[in-house]
Order: sequence, then structure tokens, then C-alpha cells
Amino acid sequence: MIMQGLFDTHCHLFMEPLSRDTGGVLQRAFAVGVERLLVPAVSGDNWDACAELALLPGISCALGIHPWWADDGVEVDELRMKLTETGAAAVGEIGLDWKIEVPRQTQYTVFQKQLELASTMDLPVILHCRNAFKEMLELLEEYPVRGVIHAWSRDPQLMTRFIEAGLFISFGGAITRPDAKKACESARLVPCDRFVLETDSPSIGLSGVPPGESEPGHIAEVAQAMAQIRGESLEETIAAAWENSIELFGDSS
Ligand SMILES: [Zn+2]
Repeated sequence: MIMQGLFDTHCHLFMEPLSRDTGGVLQRAFAVGVERLLVPAVSGDNWDACAELALLPGISCALGIHPWWADDGVEVDELRMKLTETGAAAVGEIGLDWKIEVPRQTQYTVFQKQLELASTMDLPVILHCRNAFKEMLELLEEYPVRGVIHAWSRDPQLMTRFIEAGLFISFGGAITRPDAKKACESARLVPCDRFVLETDSPSIGLSGVPPGESEPGHIAEVAQAMAQIRGESLEETIAAAWENSIELFGDSS
């Protein structure tokens, strides 16, 4: 089925294996109706690659320091310069991840500085969060930024707290798996003006697509799952996701 107006708000086109066949990956995405893609960087090492991809039609980028690379020693001042120089659409992906070994204090400091930067530059943020929801919500109170929390897989109660903090919620591969009960329940209940869709390709898989093998074209399956869970028409779901994505990231790419 060919759809129109799909927006993959989170795909890492610079990562292998996607980077080995950018042309093919994009062609397959455009063929199923993808019109916009947002490529978030994860560390200073890939800012240039993301900015370069954003020169292609339909693609925007976000630049930031992901918590997994928070102890790389990259300075937030360098990020400020790159953001200005490239006209990136967002600061991302950034956040807190208490499941990894990078010291929490380092993650916290790097994240806090980037929130401050996003708020002074008036840019939206793309958030990554694992097991640090309390700390993240506290920081969002201190730095009221626009943005999205990506790859949502948690329950609707916690989701509501992020919506109250002014954020959008991004749904991806998890909602294609009926056993992901909390994610699907959140997808059913999220207000229609508060969600966007993503693949997080190639990192996150979908039902029938193992992690490492997903690509932006799979956003079509995510949209189908979202429509089915919400009991909406596919057109309605895609239109809402598009409008919300544009509100977040702007309509130029
Ligand atoms: Zn990601």
C-alpha cells in the first residue's frame, strides 16, 4: 500500500548498515510515502555526517550528545557553534540513561547544559530516557523546552507527566508488537495533537524485523499499527503525526 505524508522523526541514516546504501534506503522510503526524515546525531563524531545528510531534499538533522557518549569530552560550546553553522532543526539526541555505565553525574551535567542551550537557542529537543524519568522530569521543570521523548514504551500515567511538561511523545517499533502492552496502551490514549512517529532505524526493530535491519520505510508499518490501535483511519493517523511533526521541527528541510 502506498501512503502519503509519512514523517520518520527519528532515523540514524549515518549508521551502518543504512550508511552503506543511503540512496537505496531513501528510495525505498520515498516509495512507501515517506516525505520527511529527521536524522539525530548521537555524538560529535557524527555531527558532520548528519549535517551533510540534511542537505538532501526531505531530510533535516538534529545535533547533540547522547548520554552513551556523554564522557567523550565534547564541549557544549562546540555544539552551539555547529547548531548555528548548520541550521539544525533540533538538539538531539540527548538525555539520561541509568542503564549504562557512563557516570550519572557526567550524563546529568552534559544533559543539563544541552537543555540550557536548546532553551537559549529556542530549538526543540529530542530526548532519550531509560530508568531516569524522575530526574528528567525535574530537569524539564527547570528548563521548559519544546521537544519530544523518543521510542516511548512506558505506561500512560508516566506519559501524561511528559505531556504535562509540554512534550510530544514519539512511537516506534514497539507498538507493532502486541506483547508491548504498555506502549500500545499509551499509543491508544495519547492525545491526537501530542504524538509523532519514528523508526529509530537501524537500532530498534519491529514485529518481524530484527533490530539492526530496520529502515525509514518501515515507518509505514508503525503508522498502520498506530491507526489500528487508536481505531482511526490510516489517513487520520498520518495527518495528525505530520501536523505534530511540522509543529515541532518546522516545515522546511
Ligand atoms: Zn536514536
